Amino acid sequence: MNAPASTTRPELAGHPHFHYRDGVLHAEGVALDKLAAELGTPLYVYSRAALAAALGSYRDAIGDRPVLVCFGMKANSNLAVLKEFARLGAGFDIVSGGELQRVLAVGGDPSRVVFSGVGKQAWEMRAAIEAGVMCFNVESQAELRRLSQVAHEMGQTARVSLRVNPDVDAQTHPYISTGLKENKFGIAIESALDAYRLAASLPGLEVVGVDCHIGSQLTDISPYFDALEKLLDLISQLAEEGITISHLDLGGGLGIRYTDEIPPSPKALLDGVFARLQARGLGHLHLVLEPGRSLVGNAGLLLTTVQYLKHAEARNFAIVDAAMNDLLRPSLYEAYHGLRAVRPRQGDEQEYDVVGPVCESGDWLARQRRLSVQEGDVLALESAGAYGMVMASNYNSRGRPAEVMVDGDKYYVVRQRETLADLIRGESTLP
Ligand SMILES: *Cc1c(COP(=O)(O)O)cnc(C)c1O
Repeated sequence: MNAPASTTRPELAGHPHFHYRDGVLHAEGVALDKLAAELGTPLYVYSRAALAAALGSYRDAIGDRPVLVCFGMKANSNLAVLKEFARLGAGFDIVSGGELQRVLAVGGDPSRVVFSGVGKQAWEMRAAIEAGVMCFNVESQAELRRLSQVAHEMGQTARVSLRVNPDVDAQTHPYISTGLKENKFGIAIESALDAYRLAASLPGLEVVGVDCHIGSQLTDISPYFDALEKLLDLISQLAEEGITISHLDLGGGLGIRYTDEIPPSPKALLDGVFARLQARGLGHLHLVLEPGRSLVGNAGLLLTTVQYLKHAEARNFAIVDAAMNDLLRPSLYEAYHGLRAVRPRQGDEQEYDVVGPVCESGDWLARQRRLSVQEGDVLALESAGAYGMVMASNYNSRGRPAEVMVDGDKYYVVRQRETLADLIRGESTLP
């Protein structure tokens, strides 16, 4: 590491696949200044080794316990990312018919797919039943009835878990906290028994599991165990009614390190969960996890080039070519992303707000960072592998960035940059 202290922090535990060599930030063996010059910016860069390492940390923690990891693919649904996880044996947590299509497109195994989401439509249910997904995570009695009808009409049986809302506070950002009573997600724990009775009585359904997902970017492990205890109580009650549960799905949500967070490890989570299962005599249950962010977040960067430096009275602005349409998290959640110069400069540092060209004051990517930069410098926004490209839009008629996957000292463009022609495709004027 030979970058000045301001543009880089000590090597972070979560980012070992992005590192400085000869004064240039690399992804694995690829120099990112050359990559930016060749492919242009803004550019999402993923490390294949980082994806494998993130899944490996779950694998190592699981050992020979019965756990299925279903990648919460809404965090990053690029086909190359999905293919890598499918190849490594992961399943997928999908939230739409479009996501199912992507899993099938990379040859993912439908029998390792769980289908989540509050608003599944009949066509999406049909497609998932046809594909043979492992389980539907159902979020309301109305959805149970619809799914029953769809499956029955097809002469098929849909396996279901009910997504229970355990009313625990995940202590994360309100927009990504999902396990509280006031959230739209799941079935309130008090009503769960009734909903299970309904599920057991409807044709075309087979009750197989209990599910919850309490939020995202959890940096404290205790909300998982609070939720788990409530779900285990429910499973015991169900057993008394003759409703047998074979798997427990604890959702996703493990946090990652954006700045100085120390999120719980998969091992801490799994050890705690299995200890509690054993204590309740439920050690036979299979476990499903749906990690999204923790499998991809620190496996990606967003490269952007400084267009202009603007020294206004109250602030200095570094105006870059990426914007809120490319990476929404700062604008939407006031999220922090680490920022590094790809070729750090020695010399005069100033405090900058790093902002994009979009016509919104909310269009910023990083605030109050001490930087030594000039026009034309390439910067890297860290931890951009999750909820980055998938949330990109065409706001301000901006084409969405390209995505590239680095593998050792090779790289592959895994999504072309959108062209101006792409932007108006499908539109027309009146005759
Ligand atoms: C978003 C989501 C996930 C993934 O969450 P992460 O915080 O990215 O791990 C998993 N399950 C469901 C139901 C989700 O909505």
